[in-house]
Amino acid sequence: MSEHQGIFTSPAVQDYLAAAPTMTCEQLSDRLWTISDGKYRTIFMEADHSVVAFDTFGTPARARAYAAEIARLVPGKPVATIIYSHDHLDHAGFAADFAPDANIVADEMTAKVVLMRAADGQLPVTQALSGAKNNVSYDGAEFVLLNRGPVHGTGHLSAWFEEEKLFFSSDTILPNARYGLMPDYHISNFVKIMRSFLDLDFERFVPGRYEVTDRNRFEQGCDYIEALQIACQTAFHSFVPIWIHDEMAGFVQNELGERFGHLDGFKEHSGQTAIRIVHHYLMGGWGLEDTPEPTILLGN
Ligand SMILES: [Zn+2]
Repeated sequence: MSEHQGIFTSPAVQDYLAAAPTMTCEQLSDRLWTISDGKYRTIFMEADHSVVAFDTFGTPARARAYAAEIARLVPGKPVATIIYSHDHLDHAGFAADFAPDANIVADEMTAKVVLMRAADGQLPVTQALSGAKNNVSYDGAEFVLLNRGPVHGTGHLSAWFEEEKLFFSSDTILPNARYGLMPDYHISNFVKIMRSFLDLDFERFVPGRYEVTDRNRFEQGCDYIEALQIACQTAFHSFVPIWIHDEMAGFVQNELGERFGHLDGFKEHSGQTAIRIVHHYLMGGWGLEDTPEPTILLGN
């Protein structure tokens, strides 16, 4: 069988796309669950007659496993609504294998990218949202979707569940230091916008990877990226060879170890994250998303 393949072009990826994952679910409230494939994480919600699910996971086999877990935990209620947290294929690329008949909701910017990219398996958005805040209700499931500006990917939506005092934001703040190269993070505005979400009443935070965490660790995540941004600027002042991984890793670990060395993955990951951030300062940012008034993106 040939799997939907996103934007991969080599037949060699078929085994990767078809590999069955082990999914783990945890119930967060009467109506809300979180599910992980061991690395990525998302949430879904029981509505009156159906299920509202965020994202699809990043391969056809993972999307099918996600659908199977929902059917097991919420029997008799089909996934009628999918919300794309952002455009990236590793989170939202495989609605065709997850719930092909669902209504697909996303920010209008995400809708444009998805349509123009036309990745195999990523279905087009059927309901595009605009603006910074949408109070939504799907089949009796009510919550708030927020896009306060470019943080990660295109048209990124975070979700606030007031009743549960719970905040979900995929691929932004992590409960550790295991950031990768941070491609498509919009460094100019990232911390400012993420920190602004602390004005919401939430106690639990569900990230797009790793474990469910809390408000304190969300705030500490903002602090960590902000401190890395400062350390990376100091690297210029100290004439660190900023394009050499081991030099950057040693420098930022020395600068930040006392405050953030306890974060899981700090030693392994801080160097590559720093390499990305120094290049932000070197180049001035990547496109309109990294300008001080990024709302210009919404001005057509
Ligand atoms: Zn992403």
